[in-house]
Amino acid sequence: MDENCLFCKIVRGQIPSSRVYEDADIIAFKDIHAKAPVHLLLVPREHVESLITAGPQHESLMGKMLLLAPRLAREQGSVDGFRVVVNNGPGGGQEVFHLHMHVLAGPRPWKGF
Ligand code: AMP
Ligand code: ZN
Repeated sequence: MDENCLFCKIVRGQIPSSRVYEDADIIAFKDIHAKAPVHLLLVPREHVESLITAGPQHESLMGKMLLLAPRLAREQGSVDGFRVVVNNGPGGGQEVFHLHMHVLAGPRPWKGF
């Protein structure tokens, strides 16, 4: 838990979100500025800054997040596929420094992103 982290606050329910999934390790909610008809953020409950600071102890968590993506994309309305984006570090376009996976689907979800 990082006191100043937006996604830690969302994980703890201190900031509202449109949550679509949760388990012991991961939550998923709708991106507040959706760039596609389906735009979810998959977020580990643990505060991990990015893939840059993730370590071997996160191997199963990363696998779990990736394998969850198709299920949530489908449940949220994807019919023919989806896109996964993980921004890492300022040079990678990351703005919230709590690791998260964007799941985008719908007509041409790569446009403008
Ligand atoms: P990134 O640039 O990969 O760090 O993406 C951060 C994402 O978090 C952006 O797509 C924002 O729209 C999204 N975001 C920021 N604040 C919130 C919030 N309160 N609820 C849901 N999504 C958010
Ligand atoms: Zn955090």
